Amino acid sequence: QKFVYDFTEGNRDLKDLLGGKGANLAEMTNLGLPVPPGFTITTEACKVYLGSGEEPAALRDEVSAHLDALETRMAKKLGQSDDPLLVSVRSGAKFSMPGMMDTVLNIGLSDASVVGLATQSGDERFAWDSYRRLIQMFGKTVLGVDGDLFEEALEAAKEAKGVTVDVDLDAADLKKLVKQFKKIVTRDAGRDFPQDPREQMDLAIKAVFDSWNTDRAKLYRRQERIPGDLGTAVNVCSMVFGNLGPDSGTGVAFTRDPASGHQGVYGDYLQNAQGEDVVAGIRNTVALAELESIDKTSYDQLIAIMETLETHYRDLCDIEFTIERGRLWMLQTRVGKRTAGAAFRIATQLVDQGLIDEAEALQRVNGAQLAQLMFPRFDDTGARGGEGPQLLGRGIAASPGAAVGKAVFDSYTAIKWSRSGEKVILIRRETNPDDLDGMIAAEGILTSRGGKTSHAAVVARGMGKTCVCGAEEIEVDTKRRRLTAGTTVVEEGDLVSVDGSTGKVYLGEVPVVPSPVVEYFEGRMHAGADDADELVAAVHRIMAYADRVRRLRVRANADNAEDALRARRFGAQGIGLCRTEHMFLGERREMVEKLILADTDQERETALDALLPLQKADFIELFEAMDGLPVTVRLLDPPLHEFLPDITELSVRVALAESRKDANENDLRLLQAVHKLHEQNPMLGLRGVRLGLVIPGLFAMQVRAIAEAAAERKNAKSDPRAEIMIPLVGTVQELEIVREEADRVIAEVQAASGTNLKLKIGTMIELPRAALTAGQIAEAAEFFSFGTNDLTQTVWGFSRDDVEASFFTAYLEKGIFGVSPFETIDKDGVGSLVRSAVEAGRATRPDLKLGICGEHGGDPESVHFFHEVGLDYVSCSPFRIPVARLEAGRAAA
Ligand code: ADP
Ligand code: MG
Ligand code: MG
Repeated sequence: QKFVYDFTEGNRDLKDLLGGKGANLAEMTNLGLPVPPGFTITTEACKVYLGSGEEPAALRDEVSAHLDALETRMAKKLGQSDDPLLVSVRSGAKFSMPGMMDTVLNIGLSDASVVGLATQSGDERFAWDSYRRLIQMFGKTVLGVDGDLFEEALEAAKEAKGVTVDVDLDAADLKKLVKQFKKIVTRDAGRDFPQDPREQMDLAIKAVFDSWNTDRAKLYRRQERIPGDLGTAVNVCSMVFGNLGPDSGTGVAFTRDPASGHQGVYGDYLQNAQGEDVVAGIRNTVALAELESIDKTSYDQLIAIMETLETHYRDLCDIEFTIERGRLWMLQTRVGKRTAGAAFRIATQLVDQGLIDEAEALQRVNGAQLAQLMFPRFDDTGARGGEGPQLLGRGIAASPGAAVGKAVFDSYTAIKWSRSGEKVILIRRETNPDDLDGMIAAEGILTSRGGKTSHAAVVARGMGKTCVCGAEEIEVDTKRRRLTAGTTVVEEGDLVSVDGSTGKVYLGEVPVVPSPVVEYFEGRMHAGADDADELVAAVHRIMAYADRVRRLRVRANADNAEDALRARRFGAQGIGLCRTEHMFLGERREMVEKLILADTDQERETALDALLPLQKADFIELFEAMDGLPVTVRLLDPPLHEFLPDITELSVRVALAESRKDANENDLRLLQAVHKLHEQNPMLGLRGVRLGLVIPGLFAMQVRAIAEAAAERKNAKSDPRAEIMIPLVGTVQELEIVREEADRVIAEVQAASGTNLKLKIGTMIELPRAALTAGQIAEAAEFFSFGTNDLTQTVWGFSRDDVEASFFTAYLEKGIFGVSPFETIDKDGVGSLVRSAVEAGRATRPDLKLGICGEHGGDPESVHFFHEVGLDYVSCSPFRIPVARLEAGRAAA
């Protein structure tokens, strides 16, 4: 097994083995781009180390061989005292984890070689600046020294000299600082800063391995659903120097704007600095376009390289580069993160450029991004002086969305307040990895410093969280927990509104308006020229691609005509679940009470007769809204006690009345009924088909209402396509009994109305027994609809209404679930029952229609699963329909 790859040996397809950074460094090397030579230690080596606590035996020799080759190539040895080779040791996992893992620059410097570097470069200041950086980074990330100690010493040095930026410190100052830094290391780490360059390198490699398992890294992985056992690769890369004076510098660039997708020159550049300075947002950068006037040759070369990379990767790339005395070096590239809106725009732009086809365009976007675009936005037309929200300032629109919450100035408070149900906006001068929990807890993030590539921006974008960064008019005072903007002071707890799409920040609550994408789906907006419409046009095209290729049909869960009409506008191809329980609520509750209290057949029939016309009217409206499309109506499902008064309330009422000796007959009977119907486990009690079997005439009445409504529509020359669905069936006998009765009722209605209704009768598969005997059940069912909510509850044996609050957090934290099984289908358990029921059902009845209704119908990952097991449709809430359409297209493309 080979544990080390030279940059010339890898390529971009080896991300599993070399990590993203290593694979792309190799790819750029092979493209002939200027990458400083180096090598990558594989994730396999990391896994061995993490598993056993020991590096694999062969690793040391392999590293030595590659280091020898590197030294030969560079014609100097690592840390050689008269002319040292310096390297960076850089982490790089398969998935980019911004700021999560540690990188150490300038390895190879020591008390001896710093002098050599000074002589060789002819720049003493540079040599000592590099050395202090090494001690600082190495001390912090490898030896675990508190980073603030170094920062404080650096600040003190600047203050003593009366300067504000580190470039104003000269060689003598830095020499002193190095001495202090070394003392800090000795004191805080209990050992001296290692002078042996190879020891430095080996310790740094180990530290990178270890950084895979820091709490921060684990939390980020859980958030992003990145598996915990991938390990990280380690890149050893010869150093190039951006801190060699004004003709040197370092920067980051995007081949397109990650916020809008527009092509152009986007990025930040910092003269006379090493890489970390830009990413950390410590000094103020200049816009990349300004590099043209600073160093035209490097600028032109960079633009050319960006074009090469974008054409090669056929996507937006982000880039880290360094210029050393007028010479450009590429230090990193990857397919860049982007906002949801940019993802759609870029995908269609690349199609237009002929770089990708429509199928590929579908893979470049996803349902989560579409869902994000459907969020409402701020309406800030009223936010100008005077009353109402006040504009505090404008920063960089780093991650879109409209967030309103109470101002908090530290992560601890953000977490505490959000736990108690408050919405908060985390406001920091700049964020660092320690703020991660606070960022997760917040509705939105606001910083006063840092650019599009600052920690806050990158992480927020990854989490899909609203973020405005670099709002420079705002002064953040963390200690006093407040910010000032001009003359306005915002204290902790004040409401602020943060617009991640425009970068604007307001004091007060700004009202929100619907998203243009929703306006488009609603048919209220069409393609045009301004910014919102460009997005709409891109969404329109992507949706068309998805609809063209998808095999899964998408239906809506809707109970009334209004929802049905909206669902239809959003692209629903029918109703997959019409719940009938709401038809028993409101003013009709009284009739239901009568039904439940009925002692005689006569009383029961009277109650049902009263309900019939009301239900029929509901169905007529619904069939009208969905004319020509299937409408699956589920017969009554919930336990009857849900329609009766609350047991405690009623008991109190009756007791009070009795004490006054004026108890009312009806209340007494109700109380009796409530007691009789009370169940320990209503979820597993008298509900679903069981109701139909024990309450004579109930299901017959519902079937009659459906059939008569359909007949009336038919006779009005319309095209109703009703389907009757029996819930909670566990055995085919239940279904047969209900079916017989339903068939009889339908025949009567057909005869009376002179129509042929072609009503389908089917069942939900939502109990394990139903799934296990699906072959038998299909004999009596023309369709199955998997009720994955109940199926998940019954397969796992836990109740959805209780678990979220009790033990789910613990399960998620312990990694037992990556995500709640009520959100994304549990493929191995619940999913395998679905799969076998599909096969058994189709074996019995080849033309069996198969669908799913339940929250999973609108969940991207679940939609892919349902496509794969061969369902005919998914059904979800109206607002999730576009997401389901898109994901069904992506699954098929
Ligand atoms: P991250 O994954 O946090 O971006 P990197 O490994 O990319 O960490 O390194 C952090 C910074 O250090 C980057 O900005 C990069 O440009 C700079 N850097 C890394 N290696 C070198 C090198 N060999 N020479 C010069 N700068 C480097
Ligand atoms: Mg980097
Ligand atoms: Mg159910």
